[in-house]
Amino acid sequence: MTGSLRADTQEGVTAAGEALTLSGSSVLHGTPVVPGVGYGPVIRPGKRPDVPVDTTVVDEAERGTELERFRSSAANVSARLRARAELATGAASEVLSANAAMAQDRGWIGAAEKLIGKGALATSATVAATEQFIAMFTKLGGLMAERVTDLRDIRDRVIAEILGIPEPGVPTPETPSVLFADDLAPADTAGLDSRLVLALATSLGGPTSHTAIIARQLGIPCVVAVTGLDDVAEGAPALVNGITGDIVLEPDAALAKASVDSARAELDRVSHWSGPGVTADGHRVDIFANVQDGAGARAARKTAADGIGLFRTELCFLDRDSEPTVDEQAEIYGQVLDAFAGHKVVVRTLDAGSDKPLRFANHPDEANPALGIRGIRIAEQDRGILYRQLDGIAAAAAATNSKPWVMAPMIATAAEAAAFAADVRERGLTPGVMIEVPAAALLAEHILEHVEFLSIGTNDLAQYTMAADRMSSQLASLTDPWQPAVITLVAHTAKAGMAVGKPVGVCGEAAADPLLACVLVGLGVTSLSAASAAVAHVGAKLSTVTLEQCRRAAAAPS
Ligand code: PEP
Ligand code: MG
Repeated sequence: MTGSLRADTQEGVTAAGEALTLSGSSVLHGTPVVPGVGYGPVIRPGKRPDVPVDTTVVDEAERGTELERFRSSAANVSARLRARAELATGAASEVLSANAAMAQDRGWIGAAEKLIGKGALATSATVAATEQFIAMFTKLGGLMAERVTDLRDIRDRVIAEILGIPEPGVPTPETPSVLFADDLAPADTAGLDSRLVLALATSLGGPTSHTAIIARQLGIPCVVAVTGLDDVAEGAPALVNGITGDIVLEPDAALAKASVDSARAELDRVSHWSGPGVTADGHRVDIFANVQDGAGARAARKTAADGIGLFRTELCFLDRDSEPTVDEQAEIYGQVLDAFAGHKVVVRTLDAGSDKPLRFANHPDEANPALGIRGIRIAEQDRGILYRQLDGIAAAAAATNSKPWVMAPMIATAAEAAAFAADVRERGLTPGVMIEVPAAALLAEHILEHVEFLSIGTNDLAQYTMAADRMSSQLASLTDPWQPAVITLVAHTAKAGMAVGKPVGVCGEAAADPLLACVLVGLGVTSLSAASAAVAHVGAKLSTVTLEQCRRAAAAPS
């Protein structure tokens, strides 16, 4: 099964002590949004207290006690916020200092004291004094009005202190902990101390939620949209994995600590990886980036990618009603070639159709578009679209003085590859094809008679091998590129490339999985092309393993 090859690979390509099995513990799952691993007891934000409406008039003899309760509570809240401000840096520290000062504001304290002097309870006076200030701040508008949330937060903290109940919002834990919550307000998240809050997990939120954004800034591993978080008891030890999205409850302590150390070392390696792609024993494997336009290529240039392994040209034209002219195309392709001047760039011709229809490609109405006229099959209907695109690529190459490789998507037969290669060579460019259809993988050696390189699109190869729609989340385990049948076809293709000394890369999502990337290298794949964000993860992992380890992982029974 896919799981066992993955587990064997994990063990085979990680340093001693790093391969971790945390089975036996119960595991929750969510969406990983900030990489890293944190382990500690679970803490939760305290609930906001009910704001009391109590009109009791306190006896004169008791008013001194009420006054003292209010003063000491406000002072304690202020001191705690100040201590937190000292631990924080930048904007977070400023916000917390301002709030600490607000809890000791003379005007606010004076208003509450006056009310207590007239017989109000400390809690009621806190509420009423805050209401006065809220009305005033709201009237002033602008920045002052934005402080109303902070005023309410201080009111709630002081009331909780007076009532002797846990502080609302995020507590300051005494020992380093992991924080579980439904979701967190930005102010709560900004005040987190990454030395005390080792990881975050929330039931709500998504990769772009505020919690995720601030956690990323603070470097706190974070998993959002976790199911079952509410049932976890406070104080229970938990391991939050911001790389896989797993939350292991009550894990073996030694293994959990090893997992934290291993993730830390991994992130350190990733942040220091500066290319080129090479295994620990010096076997060169190009690590490329997948892009869709000039902006994406310029962003990819900031990574240590050795080049572009897949330029998805159809994505430049999804909003077009009419076909872009050769000149327009040359300008757009030139931006990508420019960004990687002097490096390998692989341009893919239009992969229109199925989930990426182009209005100007005149797609027929089909019952099964994924099995219909898409990719190179468009050119079989209308060779002109392909010719004009190849002319655009050739013009961009001339203008930028570069020599891009050009490949066709969805090739199924050697004859299609031969016809495409002839058209590409005619324009002085280097032809290759994608291996996405099982038929092409099975006949890779024949296809290689016509082209200079192959690039395996594991997304479609998995879809067509497993007869499972790549868009279906219910079928995700079938379209998993770890499926043995998919890996067998990759192995066959890589072997065909090695036999004739021609490069065979992988540019589907499989190449973005650092562990699977090691298996692919072990199978003989010569380049890996992944989204820019994955480039350093793949490169760093590869730098820790030898070619022999990769080969052993690839040979493990699946
Ligand atoms: C693939 O199928 O793996 C591939 C890289 O192409 P796309 O995802 O654009 O279909
Ligand atoms: Mg594809």
